[in-house]
Amino acid sequence: MSEYETESMVEFELSEEQDMLVGLAKIFADEELIPNAEEWDRNGIFPEETISKARELGLLNCTIPEKYGGLGLSFLDEVMINEELGRGDPGFATITGVTMLACHPVIYGGTEKQKMEYLGRVCAGEISAYCVTEPGAGSDVKAITTTAVLEGDNYVITGSKMWIGGAGHANWFYVLARTSEESSHESLSGFIVEANSVGLEVGKKEEKMGQRSSDTRSVRFDNVKVPKENLVGGTEGTGWLQAMVAFDRSRPMLASHALGNARGAMEEAWQYANERRTFGKPIFEHQAISFMLADMSTKIEGARLLAYKAANLLDKGEQATLASAHAKRYAADIGMEVTTDAVQIFGGYGYSEEFPAARRMRGAKIYQIFGGTSQIQKLIISRELNKQYQ
Ligand SMILES: Cc1cc2nc3c(=O)[nH]c(=O)nc-3n(C[C@H](O)[C@H](O)[C@H](O)COP(=O)(O)OP(=O)(O)OC[C@H]3O[C@@H](n4cnc5c(N)ncnc54)[C@H](O)[C@@H]3O)c2cc1C
Repeated sequence: MSEYETESMVEFELSEEQDMLVGLAKIFADEELIPNAEEWDRNGIFPEETISKARELGLLNCTIPEKYGGLGLSFLDEVMINEELGRGDPGFATITGVTMLACHPVIYGGTEKQKMEYLGRVCAGEISAYCVTEPGAGSDVKAITTTAVLEGDNYVITGSKMWIGGAGHANWFYVLARTSEESSHESLSGFIVEANSVGLEVGKKEEKMGQRSSDTRSVRFDNVKVPKENLVGGTEGTGWLQAMVAFDRSRPMLASHALGNARGAMEEAWQYANERRTFGKPIFEHQAISFMLADMSTKIEGARLLAYKAANLLDKGEQATLASAHAKRYAADIGMEVTTDAVQIFGGYGYSEEFPAARRMRGAKIYQIFGGTSQIQKLIISRELNKQYQ
């Protein structure tokens, strides 16, 4: 034992299994995602076959417990795999990530029967979507107006949801609705709603700035009858906590998508910087460029460590609200900076859709908006820390 070896609380070595999983995800990103990302984005293609391949390889739905048909992997495994998916194509990472977002409330708060059926269906290949945001309520989740009223053996759901990822392909939705008129969070309840329910109408695909392969739509509920057994957890008033836990548990994954996309942009810019010559030498040899690349690398490393920390807390079953907000906010913000700098390194070619830099920059922006905006993450961070400093 050297004089520096001590009992370490933080483990930086990957296990053999993690090494293998990341290797698999890396090959998948290189062979299946990077060559197709441009076409999927340009034509708004939802890559069903590639999603199936990823599922068969064990790269999706990682944290669904084995007893419900999932892989039972750790949040850290999920983050590592998803960094590679984000590097390959952030649109693909979002497509596959939203299903997990809808599963988290069920894993956290569902009854055994709900878990067996709906998580099992996802593991068998179904898609689920998380239906919380409304035209008039995004950041302010408690302001949602969709209602669920118990009538006999059914709840009747009425209202509109907006910006629902995967809505056009989903088999079932996790829907947050108001079960009482009070304004407190105890008036919110979660429901599992079959996509083919009578009165459920999925809107047209939204034309987005980036990640155009991911399918984002509105969903309208016009007196949709849902059996009362589909109230998640079986108790009214538990929806707020389910929806918030889903955010805590999915933000490290979103962070890994953002930092993976940033890493892809950096790697592409790095290669270009060694190829492109100005004033008789590769642009990498201009310190302004190599320092920009060094800054990108530092930011990505930092974002990765924050994502690992949040995932590690989740794996230990500890409170991860603060760490998840730190991870998501930082990765989203540096993701935007890194991809913008990558466009700069490509010069005029960076502004062209012929090169990946522009697509990565467009794709990076959404991480500052969905899953809670960067401002909302700052709100969470300041509120959580103030509990200690007050
Ligand atoms: C492509 C895409 C996919 C999405 N996928 C899903 C999905 O699958 N499921 C789902 O439920 N939702 C989804 N969303 C919705 C997304 O989560 C919301 O857009 C987001 O939470 C912001 O809500 P908003 O758009 O209503 O903006 P608003 O809440 O109206 O915010 C507008 C601006 O004000 C800022 N702001 C608001 N309140 C505060 C405050 N208190 N302090 C400081 N600043 C504040 C925000 O940060 C933002 O900059 C998606 C959105 C997009 C664009």
